[in-house]
Amino acid sequence: MADSKNSKRPIVIGLEVHIQLNTKTKLFCPCSTDYIGKTPNTNVCPVCLAVPGTLPILNDSAVALGARMGLGLHCAIQNYSNFHRKNYFYPDLSKAYQITQYGLTIAVGGYLDIESDGKPRRVRVHHLHLEEDAGKLVHPTVDGRLTGAAYSLVDYNRGGVPLSEIVSEPDMSSPAEARDYVVRLRQLARYLDVSDGEMESGSLRVDANISLSNADGSLGTRVEIKNMNSLKSLERALEYEIARQNKVLDSGGRIVQETRLWDDAEEVTRSMRNKETASDYRYYPEMDLAPIVITDEQIEGFKRAMPELPWEKRDRFMKDFGLSYEEVEILTEQKELARYYEDVVAAGAPPARAANWVRMEVLRVLNERGADISNFSLSPSILAELVKKVENKELSSTIAKDILDMLSQENISLEEAIKRSGASTVRLTGDLLGEVIDRICAANSDVVETIKTGQDKKGGKVKFLQGLVMKETRGQADPSEVSSLLSKKLEG
Ligand SMILES: [Zn+2]
Repeated sequence: MADSKNSKRPIVIGLEVHIQLNTKTKLFCPCSTDYIGKTPNTNVCPVCLAVPGTLPILNDSAVALGARMGLGLHCAIQNYSNFHRKNYFYPDLSKAYQITQYGLTIAVGGYLDIESDGKPRRVRVHHLHLEEDAGKLVHPTVDGRLTGAAYSLVDYNRGGVPLSEIVSEPDMSSPAEARDYVVRLRQLARYLDVSDGEMESGSLRVDANISLSNADGSLGTRVEIKNMNSLKSLERALEYEIARQNKVLDSGGRIVQETRLWDDAEEVTRSMRNKETASDYRYYPEMDLAPIVITDEQIEGFKRAMPELPWEKRDRFMKDFGLSYEEVEILTEQKELARYYEDVVAAGAPPARAANWVRMEVLRVLNERGADISNFSLSPSILAELVKKVENKELSSTIAKDILDMLSQENISLEEAIKRSGASTVRLTGDLLGEVIDRICAANSDVVETIKTGQDKKGGKVKFLQGLVMKETRGQADPSEVSSLLSKKLEG
């Protein structure tokens, strides 16, 4: 694996991210956007199949979602934008042109603040535009293996699904920054309910433009990389490309402006075609669609409807709950988890302790089960009760963790789980606790002798006795009381 940190030449990366918009129907027809898993070519109609004589009708929800994402990216929403035809021939494109925005786009000039390697960085957004998706080529397989057939099949189910393409400025200087930008962008899209942002299913797709700067600081030749289906392949593809370009330049060669495809299995990029320029596409205005007009009142309406954004939530959690940046990063990564945490606090759990429990224990349980917070069976109010019992020293953390495991596996009450854990909510203090300590000291008289004769210099033996007492009392005793009673007994 190459290491971009050793690149002799400064790295310049810009990303084009396609996000599938969360509408019910396609961009220009009433077909469903829920196409995954459907029989090929059943989720289609004359409009998205481009039957001559049909006309597209713009889906207003796609416009609203595009504007919303644009506002999230601090872009200016345009009062007037329009659609163009981007002409190219490819079998998955039913019309032999794609309806897209070009020149006059719905949102321009924003930015997204990211954090990479502990450092803040602002990535500028050139613009956001709306466009329709293409269909998919299907290569025949048997038992999941390509047959090597001399033909491909085409499935138009996805054709016409609305996308927003977000084009960044070339403001990233490492594969890690590119990844962190995509992570933040995806988080924003999810917070705004604009898209599910799943890379694996293709709801979020990234194309990268990368070049290495020349010795005089001027930009080198740009290469576009496509076909990266995960954050990991995005990083790997960029690492590979940095190493490849450095090698070509070191040996006196020159970089060709082209589009390269990432091959995930072989971990290489391969030349696909020479990069097209805009003139290759013969863009011209789409005469079948009226321009998109968004009034200032509508823009104000979109702004008012914006939910709390990820960075606003992070700031508020730090301020209101006194949490660290690292803690809120984890708690706000998914808005569903953030809501869960807030519900636990609202149900009376102390914020700091609740943050620990959600970050460590809830995420651990979800991880172990491969489950999601949105269908987590343990309600925030029950977790709050449990956390409060730990806070009040009615339960030890160890036992409370066992109880949490039980509650998340079985549909039982908190009382039942506490009973099964063997812990009693009755606290063991004073004389009762003293009796347990006496019993344990009597059963371990040799250890007591060692301590009393001053041979336990590091205190390991005292800790050993404390552990036995805590085990015996099954979390019913307060550790600090055990400690003080035990030292009195050992001194006496
Ligand atoms: Zn259709």
